[in-house]
Amino acid sequence: MVSRDAVVLLSGGLDSATAAAIAKRQGFRLHALSFDYGQRHVRELDSARSVAAFLQTESHRLIKFDLRAIGGSALTDQIAVPKQRSAAAIAQGIPVTYVPARNTIFLSFALALAERIDAADIFFGANQLDYSGYPDCREEYINAFEHMANLATKAGVEGKSRLTIHAPLLHMSKAEIIKRGLELGIDYGLTWSCYDPTSAGEACARCDSCQLRIKGFKEAGAVDPVPYKR
Ligand SMILES: [Zn+2]
Repeated sequence: MVSRDAVVLLSGGLDSATAAAIAKRQGFRLHALSFDYGQRHVRELDSARSVAAFLQTESHRLIKFDLRAIGGSALTDQIAVPKQRSAAAIAQGIPVTYVPARNTIFLSFALALAERIDAADIFFGANQLDYSGYPDCREEYINAFEHMANLATKAGVEGKSRLTIHAPLLHMSKAEIIKRGLELGIDYGLTWSCYDPTSAGEACARCDSCQLRIKGFKEAGAVDPVPYKR
């Protein structure tokens, strides 16, 4: 078993928690990175802290910047979060909850931290099945970022180490991700997926993210411990 440092992007959501647990199972020491970027569902950051504590990460950094200055997404602008969309509608096209260049921004921070701590591995929970429309959740994108990263860093240029971007959930369905996470012992009650929580702190049950999560738990034959609005 390896015992190396890995940077893990931890949003507080179900996917990133599972990707981090997979990294931990592979023997990596985890250095978690979360972002307060002006997102509507800032509540997810409490979950990120809980998940980091649960996985006993070596470190957990919260980086703040404000993507509301750019806007253009239902998560960072005065745009309503879509509700009650059909599975077919969710699977098609790029929804208004897409945040311009978000994964490129997140991975760039991960790359900076990896370089700082001499880590050669970055884990993130991208998934291209559920979010087929997201340009920055595709395998070609991840491969291209990895290629860029090795041109961009001191370690890469000096040939000391090669940076690998791991996206272990890329081809898994939500149900498969949940089953894998439960095998790894994740407490999904610590995670948060809803884009538009109620003031009482319940998940809305109707946004795309809630709907994908609810469907995933149902298909996995498991109970979602997160409270939903009735
Ligand atoms: Zn929701």
